[in-house]
Amino acid sequence: MQSISPEIMFRGNNAWEKALPQITKITNSPIILGRSIYTLDLRNKIFKDLKDHNLNPDLVDLKFDCCYEDIARIKNIISTKNHDSVIAAGGGKVLDSGKYLAEILDIPCITVPLSASTCAGWTALSNIYTKSGQFIKDIALRSCPKILVYDHKFIQTAPSRTLASGIADALAKWYESSITSSAIDDGLVQQAIQISRVLRDQLLIDGEKAFKFESENNQSWRNIIEACGLTAGLVGGLGGEKCRTAAAHAIHNAITQIISPNKFLHGEIVGVGLLLQLRLEEIKNNNKLANQSIKQLVELMQKLNLPTTLAQLGINVFENQNANKIADFTCREESEIHFLPFEICKEDIVEVIENFEQQKIKI
Ligand SMILES: [Zn+2]
Repeated sequence: MQSISPEIMFRGNNAWEKALPQITKITNSPIILGRSIYTLDLRNKIFKDLKDHNLNPDLVDLKFDCCYEDIARIKNIISTKNHDSVIAAGGGKVLDSGKYLAEILDIPCITVPLSASTCAGWTALSNIYTKSGQFIKDIALRSCPKILVYDHKFIQTAPSRTLASGIADALAKWYESSITSSAIDDGLVQQAIQISRVLRDQLLIDGEKAFKFESENNQSWRNIIEACGLTAGLVGGLGGEKCRTAAAHAIHNAITQIISPNKFLHGEIVGVGLLLQLRLEEIKNNNKLANQSIKQLVELMQKLNLPTTLAQLGINVFENQNANKIADFTCREESEIHFLPFEICKEDIVEVIENFEQQKIKI
């Protein structure tokens, strides 16, 4: 079974207003799920608009993360109050929680991303973390959201840092899917990989422009927020589990085990993981283009104020066995690192991390 995309999507300015008649057709009593204090005004607007359309909405906040504790608590609220849909309005953690809750309660999910930081508004996937943000596992869901509302006016209110994070996460699509899946003889997977290549090119060409000139009339900005929030999701939907994540996300998951909770965004960590993946490819798979890719990515990432080293993520890899801790989690049995077409052991990860931090290998 494969769910390629949300059933219906509204995009552009005022997508929320355009979506309202459709939303009223599928729900009477939605719960609006959010988290950040910064998105409260938007969630209050969503609440008021739903009220004005004669629905009975309620607001609820995640206390921690997309974690089992919050999910159990909110599941209880939804069941007790008989809510018949989840409207997840926020960033990746909120969207993932909303999709997961809707799945286990068998009610529709409407995703309303409030930043371009991830493609979680699109995908049939939820990443589960601990209360303090340590990655546990990802869960494949039966379907993508029922309705995706990608309102540019909403997304415009998000800090530019979230866009930079979304760019790093979307860039990883090409580098991860092409290395894990190019040998797969499946037309759809091949096409998904090529979409991720075009996506990468657009991010490299327009990413900086979009980051610097955020305004609703800026075509680069519009293209890039949709690349991060929509196209990156389409690649996952079309390519399915064969179009897999690889080292960049595996290293991200490991870094979340030791990083200060909630200090960095998903894509900010994935970006560093991506640079380390390329170095692994260079050393272990004789990828002669990897160093050039690293240079190209570092240049863009610096312009986007993204971290490019573990030190910039607040981690000293020469202390507290940190390099070993990252290597252990990266190489655990169920890790995506093993989707790489070459063998990787813990010592390789430690070596690459330490060399990278010391910049022994010239960028
Ligand atoms: Zn990601």
